[in-house]
Amino acid sequence: MEVLTNHPVKGSAELIEFEDRYNAHNYHPLPVVLERGRGVYLWDVEGKRYYDFLSAYSAVNQGHCHPRLINALTEQAQKLTLTSRAFYNNLLGEYAAFICQYFNYDRVLPINTGVEAVESALKLCRKWAYQVKGLDQDKAKIIFVEGNFHGRTLAVVSASTDPVARREFGPYMDGFEVIPYNDLPALEKALEDPNVAGLIVEPIQGEAGVYVPDENYIPEAYRMCKEHHVLFIADEVQTGIARTGKLLCCDHYGVKPDILVLGKALSGGVIPVSAVLANNEIMGTLKPGEHGSTFGGNPLACAVAMEALKVVTEENLAENAEMLGQIFRTRMEDLVAKRPDLLLKVRGKGLLNAVVINDSEDSDTAWNICIELANNGLLAKPTHGNIIRFAPPLVMNHSQIEECCDIIERVLLGFEK
Ligand code: PLP
Repeated sequence: MEVLTNHPVKGSAELIEFEDRYNAHNYHPLPVVLERGRGVYLWDVEGKRYYDFLSAYSAVNQGHCHPRLINALTEQAQKLTLTSRAFYNNLLGEYAAFICQYFNYDRVLPINTGVEAVESALKLCRKWAYQVKGLDQDKAKIIFVEGNFHGRTLAVVSASTDPVARREFGPYMDGFEVIPYNDLPALEKALEDPNVAGLIVEPIQGEAGVYVPDENYIPEAYRMCKEHHVLFIADEVQTGIARTGKLLCCDHYGVKPDILVLGKALSGGVIPVSAVLANNEIMGTLKPGEHGSTFGGNPLACAVAMEALKVVTEENLAENAEMLGQIFRTRMEDLVAKRPDLLLKVRGKGLLNAVVINDSEDSDTAWNICIELANNGLLAKPTHGNIIRFAPPLVMNHSQIEECCDIIERVLLGFEK
């Protein structure tokens, strides 16, 4: 193509124009064009350095281009990348044993992206409902909660309450019921239906705006599911893998989900790797041909994911997230107290936090703050109109988080609506 072969592309403006002209407009990115990353830093094509406070939506918990992960990737890439599941490969068994022991489950179902893992968990729940719980065919119901975000496929948007995610994508899938989040009486009522097979929940709602439920919500919801012989499915695609200050967010509540869904940081953001974990009674219901994926469990993914999980443990990323999260929230609470006209509150756990802007959902204040933050060398993005999520890589250190809080403070104290 003439434009690409004869015309060397250089600056941000031109690259943004290309993307806007040729790419589907299904995102609204900040006007920053990134070309390099290392640890907590990203650099744009003009060479400007930024602190990353999004971590690719919590996929890059281990930091950008972690040398151990890049090494695992490049070494394996020279040996074998994909066999499909038509044959055994020399890494899938090792990886399966490793991840099952790591998270203490009997079996893993290896997939690629977060939403595929969610879809797989929903299918698995239905299979279990018919084979183990003994529901009549096509009667199984799965409960979702309002404000959920599980990805973008048709099944998943069928249960979404976000009008933007749903609108004009119908007809929607049957067998889902949506109840309010963080509402135990609503759950108790929904569970009265004997056809309920599962509850799927994010232990903190990330995309919705980092909503942390009441302390007793997750443990009580789990207990109620047990009481009704209903599977408790935790979507920890965003909250898992040390992000919230524990290996899993459910660990804060002493809950072990019946089905655990992981993605994103399972590969440290290097390639798409996701997983569904469950014990034999549940995972054993899936038989050959009933579910699959060409790329699921490929050797490249297995090599990278094992290394990514080892890095999480060996670099104490959960402990670091817990410690830095406390510092971050304390600094942001001070700021909220200083600028109540601009800021409403801060909330979160570990290094998954959000600052709520004192403005309407459809205002552009949060967006304009993010532009100012970018100008000052820090990349963050509004989740909804008036909420800014702050989720840096977990390899950040103490002095870096203080420096980042200084940047945020400078921008927010000087910001005029
Ligand atoms: N589940 C949760 C909780 C998420 O936050 C996301 C993505 O943000 C997904 C599922 C979907 O993951 P993916 O975009 O990899 O399909």
